[in-house]
Amino acid sequence: MGALLDGKAYADRILAEVKVEVAARTAAGHAAPCLAVVLVGEDPASAVYVRGKVKACAETGIGSLERRLPATISQAELEAVVDALNADAKVHGILIQLPLPKHLDTKAILDRVSPAKDVDGFHPLNQGRLFQGVKGLRPCTPSAVMRMLELHGVALSGLRAVVLGRSEIVGKPMALMLLEANATVTLAHSQTKDLPAVCREADLLVAAVGRPGLVEGSWIKPGAVVVDVGINRVEDLALGERIFAAEPAKLAKLREKGHVLCGDVRFGEALQVASAVTPVPGGVGPLTIAGLMRNTLLAAEDH
Ligand code: NDP
Repeated sequence: MGALLDGKAYADRILAEVKVEVAARTAAGHAAPCLAVVLVGEDPASAVYVRGKVKACAETGIGSLERRLPATISQAELEAVVDALNADAKVHGILIQLPLPKHLDTKAILDRVSPAKDVDGFHPLNQGRLFQGVKGLRPCTPSAVMRMLELHGVALSGLRAVVLGRSEIVGKPMALMLLEANATVTLAHSQTKDLPAVCREADLLVAAVGRPGLVEGSWIKPGAVVVDVGINRVEDLALGERIFAAEPAKLAKLREKGHVLCGDVRFGEALQVASAVTPVPGGVGPLTIAGLMRNTLLAAEDH
């Protein structure tokens, strides 16, 4: 029987480390790091994410400023906001909350953020630095997962790691970081043949797919470490009955509230096979915010 890999607790440790470093920086006479968060439109989920990020700033001594902009903003106007933040010496990190409204060119906006302030690690220059294995701002989710694995004492060198999902935000950078740490990495995706067999080879399985309960307990190698990045909202009771068969509390909550959050991994089943599994919620989500705080500190240090 496996144990909970408590992402929230590790996120709190990372935040505590950042807080100490921020305090040391300000005690040495430097300005506190400052994160600018750009929120376009009224998407309620985005507003919740922004609140969480601003709260984490306050908790770690990082300054924050919010630019709330109307959903009707034009590409040129939004680019002007990014340019102004790039030029503002008091701002060390810039985060564009995604998704942007459909009429805006997201890639052009992200590429416009100065690489030095690109705390999401999405700019091609920072992606290139990651590819080359040199210092740079790296995507928050995979870098915080790496820190959690380190704190948890997972010896990555020589390990068989499988990453499910090949997005630029999570899957690809996760695979590169694991490779850099000398794991033997397989990057699987929607076209991978016999996914269960590929997953069963993994000593470390990272799922970043966005498909509720895709990974069954039988896909997991006994004793593996499982990191579940997926965040999915489930409302369908028939689906819930299938994927939460080993999680009666979650199923009961779905019946009661009509919706629940879950990961890409069937958590209850995974706990019976793996040595450690991150829960959803309370796993990789808080880690990602902690990674953002660390990146904001790094961006300030490089100024
Ligand atoms: P994307 O939608 O960009 O990518 C999903 C990936 O999963 C793609 O590579 C896709 O393959 C692959 N995939 C889809 N279906 C299957 C399948 N049936 N079998 C195997 N692979 C499949 O997602 P993101 O990487 O942005 O996000 C993934 C999940 O992580 C989402 O639930 C998201 O909400 C969550 N997330 C959580 C974060 C956190 O802080 N915890 C941060 C970021 C994301 P292909 O390329 O072939 O289409």
